[in-house]
Amino acid sequence: MFGVISNSLKTISNRLYTFSLFNHTKIICHSTRYTLPTATTTNSYRYFCSNNNKKMNLSDDEWRVKLTPEQFKVLRQKGTERGGTGEYDKHFEKDGVYHCAGCDAPLYKSDSKFDSGCGWPAFFDSVPGALTIHEDNSFGMKRIEICCKNCGGHLGHVFKNEGFKTPTNERHCVNSICLKFKK
Ligand SMILES: [Zn+2]
Repeated sequence: MFGVISNSLKTISNRLYTFSLFNHTKIICHSTRYTLPTATTTNSYRYFCSNNNKKMNLSDDEWRVKLTPEQFKVLRQKGTERGGTGEYDKHFEKDGVYHCAGCDAPLYKSDSKFDSGCGWPAFFDSVPGALTIHEDNSFGMKRIEICCKNCGGHLGHVFKNEGFKTPTNERHCVNSICLKFKK
C-alpha cells in the first residue's frame, strides 16, 4: 500500500518537475524572441538560450594563442568564412563527430550532415546539449546564431523551414573553420 502511494507521489512529482522545466524554458526562450522548435524536432539546444553559462572563460589573448588568426576571427569575433572554401563543405565521411575547433567539445555527428548546396557545412541536428542559441540582428537581418555551449565560440546560424527533406527541416549552417572532424 505504501509502495503504491509512494510511486504515485513520485509520478506526480516528476510531472510537476517536467511542467516547471518546460515553463522555465518557455520563459527564457521567450525573452530571446525565438520561436521554439516544434515538439517533433529532436533539437536539444532549445534548453540553452543563454550564452552566460559557458564553461571555458579564456581571455582574447589566451584564445589568440590557441587559435589560428582565421579561427579567432570566426569563433571569437563572429566572422564568416568565404562560402565554398571550407575544409568540410563537401566532406561526407561517415561514423565520425565534428568537434569544436576551439575547445574540442563534440558538436555534430556525421550522420546529421547533409548537402545543402549553400557553401558551408550543413547539419539538421546537433549533439544534445552542445549548443547555445541567440537572436542575431546584425547586418540588418534577423537570424538565429549558434554557439558552442562549452566555450561560447561562434559557429554559424540556424535556418528553419527551408524545405530540406531532413528529419527536422532545419539547417545548421556552420563555418568549417570552427570544426574538427574525428573518427
Ligand atoms: Zn567550443
